[in-house]
Amino acid sequence: MNGALLAAATGGAAALGLSLRFNWRRPRRPGTPILMYHQVGEPRSGSALNKWRVREEDFRWQLDALSRRGYRGAALNELLGAPEPPATKTRRVVLTFDDGYRGVKERALPALLARGFSATVFVVADRLGGANDWDAETPGEPLLGADEIRALHGAGIEIGSHGATHRALTSLPDAELTREVAGSKETLEGLTGAPVTSFCYPYGDFDDRVVEAVRAAGYRAATVIRGGISRDLSDPFRLKRIAVRGTHTRLDFLLALTRGRSRL
Ligand SMILES: [Zn+2]
Repeated sequence: MNGALLAAATGGAAALGLSLRFNWRRPRRPGTPILMYHQVGEPRSGSALNKWRVREEDFRWQLDALSRRGYRGAALNELLGAPEPPATKTRRVVLTFDDGYRGVKERALPALLARGFSATVFVVADRLGGANDWDAETPGEPLLGADEIRALHGAGIEIGSHGATHRALTSLPDAELTREVAGSKETLEGLTGAPVTSFCYPYGDFDDRVVEAVRAAGYRAATVIRGGISRDLSDPFRLKRIAVRGTHTRLDFLLALTRGRSRL
């Protein structure tokens, strides 16, 4: 255990107990960690989706913890554009936000900008300004509208595609798959006037046909849900991520970051 983790563990027995969920001997993983967030905001009473809601204060602590360890939060297209960090002492962590919730602009963006961080937000191209109607929760979480997405883009946040309607892609016929993958790219490029090069498979559902559709549409990278850290960028359409959950303790977060393992 290094000093930083030891400091994080001084919460006492409770923290030590939590740490037992992880294999301490699991080695540090090479490669750039890619964190998967969804909503930044308060949990809702009794909601099954709370695991995907990270409180704003926890989010700010996580960003500060990254800063203290020499990490800078980056967008996925920065990683693809320059696989080695620009300065040797800089460590990068890619921050991604799935679904495009309005709370990301209201609560995550100020915290990111204050620290000089960037990130990638994967939005559902045909649901802008709507709600997450693919989840069984009423009322739904408000999604970013077109103007808000332009504002995020203008602030240096990468806009990626999470499909047109958040459907599982492997079961779709070719024409609908193309509409979800290539159609959403076209919609979002029309919105921001910039290339959309990053894709995120809804539900982490992909197979070789879906990967090929994403590649053929002109994307450069795609992320999955499966936990871990991809060692390098040799398979850029199956980039692993580390899920950051609203139930994570600080220790969980630090261990997931370095060990590439997140509790599901
Ligand atoms: Zn999603």
